[in-house]
Amino acid sequence: MSADQTKRIWQSEACPDWCVLPHGHLDAPVNRGCSSDPIAPRTMPGVPLTLHQADGNTDPTAQLMTVYAFLEQEPREVGPRVVLSTWNDSVHMTLEEAAALHQHLWEVLAAAQRVLEGDDR
Ligand SMILES: [Zn+2]
Repeated sequence: MSADQTKRIWQSEACPDWCVLPHGHLDAPVNRGCSSDPIAPRTMPGVPLTLHQADGNTDPTAQLMTVYAFLEQEPREVGPRVVLSTWNDSVHMTLEEAAALHQHLWEVLAAAQRVLEGDDR
């Protein structure tokens, strides 16, 4: 991934180095946000899940879901946000919120692994 260091007329600073969007000087305001690639992730390819299978759903079309994590930043924001996204939904978090979620997932995973290992104290 390489950032285009060119500053467009609507930017006060060049894109962050993680931005992969092809901006132009004439971008409409709605298209001026930066992103690390939510549509065809090359550097952050996402995690395929089989969420519905655990609920007893045997419909094969309902069993595939990929969760993507990427960064985005609007022109007047001072830093990136972390986005967790599926095909039709997304959650936007500050870096602090994403770090807290990361810690929480780590603790939940550790608790589950203790149960699987027979050490669920
Ligand atoms: Zn950008």
